[in-house]
Amino acid sequence: MMRNPQTITLIGAGLTGPLLGLELARRGFNVEIYERRPDMRRAKISAGRSINLAVSARGIHALNRAGLWQSMQNIVIPMKGRMMHSIASELTFQPYGRAEWEVINSVSRADLNIAIMNAAESRGVKIDFQQRCTGIDLKTGQLRMRDERDGTERSIDAEVVIGCDGSASAIRGEMLKLNRFNFSQEYLDYGYKELTVPAGPGGKHLLEPHALHIWPRGNYMLIALPNVDGTFACILFLPFEGRDSFAQLTSPSLVREFFQSRFPDAFAMMPQLEENFFASPTGAMVTVKCSPWHAKDALLLGDAAHAIVPFFGQGINCGFEDCTVLLELIEVHAPDWERIFSDFELARKANTDAIADMAVKNFIEMRDRVADPRFLLRKRVELALEAKYPQLFVPKYSMVTFHRIPYATAKRRGEIQDRILTDLCAGLNSVDELNWRKADELITAEVSPLEMA
Ligand SMILES: Cc1cc2nc3c(=O)[nH]c(=O)nc-3n(C[C@H](O)[C@H](O)[C@H](O)COP(=O)(O)OP(=O)(O)OC[C@H]3O[C@@H](n4cnc5c(N)ncnc54)[C@H](O)[C@@H]3O)c2cc1C
Repeated sequence: MMRNPQTITLIGAGLTGPLLGLELARRGFNVEIYERRPDMRRAKISAGRSINLAVSARGIHALNRAGLWQSMQNIVIPMKGRMMHSIASELTFQPYGRAEWEVINSVSRADLNIAIMNAAESRGVKIDFQQRCTGIDLKTGQLRMRDERDGTERSIDAEVVIGCDGSASAIRGEMLKLNRFNFSQEYLDYGYKELTVPAGPGGKHLLEPHALHIWPRGNYMLIALPNVDGTFACILFLPFEGRDSFAQLTSPSLVREFFQSRFPDAFAMMPQLEENFFASPTGAMVTVKCSPWHAKDALLLGDAAHAIVPFFGQGINCGFEDCTVLLELIEVHAPDWERIFSDFELARKANTDAIADMAVKNFIEMRDRVADPRFLLRKRVELALEAKYPQLFVPKYSMVTFHRIPYATAKRRGEIQDRILTDLCAGLNSVDELNWRKADELITAEVSPLEMA
């Protein structure tokens, strides 16, 4: 059994670090966080950090437990569904769920980060900025730190360390050197770039604000999420190489022509397109899986343990759910850190692997299938089945997004439901034609009642 720590050291003041820090402080621990970047409340945040996030049930649950969600209502915009934009600029709206409360919430990453950091500091959490962790001696817990302002190096003796340092985690990098550490990383052949739709006259949104806008174009897509200031944060997802790729968009005129022909309505709202395009770096997207997540007194959490691609909008929801689960284990088992860390991985690994796989699969749905009328009919059938069988047939998207049903359960049930849907939708032209007797037989035979969370 490890010592009962006075101080817990977190690496990374991104999204999970300060939330976990706040919650640990509320439970009586001293918490110090080391963050390699400057404090975004004082310095202008660097490019690539302004992306909007969609926060849903798992994230809201964790923020609620920390007493933060209500106070965040002025920085979030609920999105009720997807608004698809065709190449002819026609709009199709597809609701995410059946009920009013089944929405996802658009929030700027910076606003969310600042709100959580402020709350953590007001609880006594110490955040030390521009301090890069360059390694850890996993036997002794000694951290190696570099001050990013002047390059000076120092060592810090830590009792318990939690690596909340994101997809390129330095703590995980040290674990990689251990015997029998499993690790895989898989990059998509696609990159992403952030762009902006500015606010209209009087700070008004130029697009419907309560929707996530998608321009699905088969092999690639543009999306836009609303901001409270009337702007939209857009992300262009495009292959790195080949036809219709970032490699081809090498000049302002090529970018202009590409947008004008592929996203004409969005193009008309982006007066600074070319400038934005070349100022914004092209990001890569990776799935990271590893195990074990802990070595002696150090643990990985959030993207450091399980980075996923963004197409289910679950990265931070999953990271915040990590915080919920870890805190529940701390409440029961502290100060047995070995037990807490082992049980944490046991509770989470199958679930984080499941959402990682579902997120990759959802990319095809978002960029391609949402434009297909048969897919939209299938979605309507799903919602009709849910209305009739609320305990038996909850759409996979809803299980992941509006409930806290374990991700692995959502994946397993989702696969069964997909087969049932394929069967029921064959030859179907409208929901009215649905064979309810067959639906009843298939559903009662193949799925058991769901424990809702
Ligand atoms: C394009 C895109 C869209 C996304 N959309 C969504 C969405 O809609 N919904 C959703 O839930 N998730 C989304 N995500 C995922 C989400 O952003 C991540 O899952 C989330 O930020 C992970 O939180 P984290 O705290 O684990 O890591 P991060 O937020 O990445 O924080 C890690 C922190 O550690 C710091 N750090 C790194 N290395 C060191 C070091 N050596 N020393 C000190 N500090 C260090 C970093 O500077 C950073 O501040 C998206 C991601 C991308 C890329």
